[in-house]
Amino acid sequence: MNAPPIFKFENTYAGLPERFHQRIDPTPVAAPRLIRLNEDLARALGLDPAAIAMPEGVSILAGNRVAPTSVPIAMAYAGHQFGNFVPQLGDGRAILLGELGGRDLHLKGAGQTRFSRRGDGRAALGPVLREYIISEAMAALGIPTTRTLAAVATGETVMRDAPLPGAVLARVAASHIRFGTFEYFGARRDTEGLRILADYAIARHYPHCRDAANPYRAFFDSVIAAQAELIAKWLLVGFIHGVMNTDNMTISGETIDFGPCAFMDFYNPKQVYSSIDRMGRYAYGNQPTMAHWNLVCLAETLVPLLAETEEAGLREAEDAMSAFAPRFESAYLAGLTRKAGLGSSDEDIALVQSLLGLMAADGADFTLTFRRLADAVRHPGQEATVRTLFKTPAALDGWLETWRTRLTPAAASTMRAVNPAFIPRNHLVEEALTAATALGDFGPFERLLEVITRPFNDQPGREVYSLPPRPEQVVHATFCGT
Ligand code: AMP
Ligand code: MG
Repeated sequence: MNAPPIFKFENTYAGLPERFHQRIDPTPVAAPRLIRLNEDLARALGLDPAAIAMPEGVSILAGNRVAPTSVPIAMAYAGHQFGNFVPQLGDGRAILLGELGGRDLHLKGAGQTRFSRRGDGRAALGPVLREYIISEAMAALGIPTTRTLAAVATGETVMRDAPLPGAVLARVAASHIRFGTFEYFGARRDTEGLRILADYAIARHYPHCRDAANPYRAFFDSVIAAQAELIAKWLLVGFIHGVMNTDNMTISGETIDFGPCAFMDFYNPKQVYSSIDRMGRYAYGNQPTMAHWNLVCLAETLVPLLAETEEAGLREAEDAMSAFAPRFESAYLAGLTRKAGLGSSDEDIALVQSLLGLMAADGADFTLTFRRLADAVRHPGQEATVRTLFKTPAALDGWLETWRTRLTPAAASTMRAVNPAFIPRNHLVEEALTAATALGDFGPFERLLEVITRPFNDQPGREVYSLPPRPEQVVHATFCGT
């Protein structure tokens, strides 16, 4: 008797017309070795973790063997990168193996494709581990995100600024349809392709739109809402994506592509970590503006689907876009007042905004300020631990006094549920990546992952993971290091 297959893929995207993708198998690697399997995620996908960890499973995740049910493809897409349109990007180093229960399984670093241009099609170990850590932290924080099923070492070296160990990341996503996928067809004036893609995206992500009077308008409205909610969630945990190019924005509303991303330590709306973002285009506080900008790019592409004439299509697009700012604002402000244990009146909003002002002026740690305020609700003496986060603690006293009088009855529990104790702090991520890359020591990576996947729990003995960096530990830039 044959063993049951480890993966049972569907291949709906591969079934779309040929111009949507390139049919291509992953390029085998020299010596695949499983670094880490996300067993909980495997089970949630209906997979057997023990079977995946066996040589046959690992060889599929390394790209050395193609599962019998898989039709591997590289997807075509375009995108605006730092404001400039590139009509063809595409999966230059990633290959979609197929879908598992409606979710994509995708290998990043799986070899060259038609879209590789001058790239080697590979990924270095450091960025693979960074994506593993950050994507799983996002998921644990309750933020829509692609997930990481596994990281596999290739036993090969990749050349970047220096020779580095190679790895492959197995990524799970609601889909890999990007704003840039629509732009790819828009740029080619391929309205038929655009319609096929929109119908596919509606069926997969927003099936209710099929019954709307104008399904494509309803679809665009849904994408706008998903982005507005997503960006609000990013800001509420201090997340900075770093490369909000339209090829890195999903139609599903999941966070994708964790390159030079980071969580902010000290509150500063202008904070940038990406070494390539010299203008601060994708700074923390600029993210809502850039999401809007990206949606305008998508809107322009969708015009031919939105109405019979261009003029009417533009009107639909503009009308839809007007919903973004209020939707973002209400999600963000509701989340912000909840973080502070307040209600949602104008006074409550003003109060929490004045706290942000004090935090910015005093370089207070974003995550810890809110978490310690949550603790102080139960134990008033703990306010001292909040004050120490501020350079001039006395400046906070008036605020704390007013805050006490305005707390909601449920503040003690709601604040703990929305304010994490643990985020993957930059200096800890760097430490874990360096140990793995330079020494082959995966201990710090494993331990960090364990802490950040339970972000709302107090974890006695792990307090050091909750602390901001000491001055000598501050990481000023994260490198795109692909
Ligand atoms: P990213 O910066 O990861 O969002 O990628 C932008 C574009 O560059 C995408 O089209 C990628 O497929 C492509 N790309 C990035 N790294 C590589 C590589 N090592 N080899 C081939 N293509 C790559
Ligand atoms: Mg990308």
